[in-house]
Amino acid sequence: MAPSDGSDYDPGFDTSQPTIARVYDALLGGKDNFAADREGAALYLKYVPDAGRCAIENREALVRGVHYLVRTAGIDQFLDIGSGLPTQKNTHQAAQEINPDAKAAYVDNDPIVLAHGRALLATNNSTIVVTADLREPQSILDNEEIRNHLDFSRPIALMVVGLHMHFHDDEKPDEWVRTIMDALAPGSYLFITDFVDTGEPLQKQMERAGLESLGNGWIRTPERITQHFLGMPLVPPGLDFLARWFPEDPDADVPAADDLAAYQRILMAGLAKKA
Ligand code: SAM
Repeated sequence: MAPSDGSDYDPGFDTSQPTIARVYDALLGGKDNFAADREGAALYLKYVPDAGRCAIENREALVRGVHYLVRTAGIDQFLDIGSGLPTQKNTHQAAQEINPDAKAAYVDNDPIVLAHGRALLATNNSTIVVTADLREPQSILDNEEIRNHLDFSRPIALMVVGLHMHFHDDEKPDEWVRTIMDALAPGSYLFITDFVDTGEPLQKQMERAGLESLGNGWIRTPERITQHFLGMPLVPPGLDFLARWFPEDPDADVPAADDLAAYQRILMAGLAKKA
């Protein structure tokens, strides 16, 4: 399927409104997006000129998190919710660089992810892609494809990367994640990145871009983001800006937060372990 702005082309989706997955794809320089998505991405770039770098650094943090989970924590199963469109290096590819037998179940509520995930599936039978919604966590847990693919009696890494910002606190996203974490074996992990609010104008600009283009994309205080981890202990270095988050080397010579570019202080990452 090729993306198109043309009126004679029917991709099988409503392309008149931007979607989170396709706007993010546009910001990452992907090709699976349409005119409305590119307009949404342009709005992000207007308010946060380095928004594309934010997306790239988010992916880089995801890869570092997966590498830690496979190499150091011995995880070989991933449940990646809000996985997004396939991009350069996805969770299973990062995992299989270290353990070729690692498995991933990708979940996204945007049907374009399933459509494009099929291409990924054809080359790799250790992944599945499912259309489901984090807001209905039990439907994810009950999904037969996921149940058949992942072994819930063994630890699983739950990836909720770049997703919380799309839900308002009033929706209580932590409760959806709790339902899933409760069903995972001891020794499982929860990896999250989210937009942070430490009082900087560019963080507010990121929120404004999201609200104007997608109707969501809220920023949160670090204290509030910490609550996403449901009281589970965080792996060092704890919750930190993406460019300072190196779980395989928490003592790495990372730049001081004040020395980061302002765009590098828009997202934070954290990884927690279930006892
Ligand atoms: N996790 C990837 C990453 O960090 O690179 C993609 C992040 S992208 C910003 C957020 C993704 O979450 C999009 O693909 C979007 O379709 C998906 N999403 C949004 N709401 C969702 C929901 N309620 N359930 C599942 N996925 C959702």
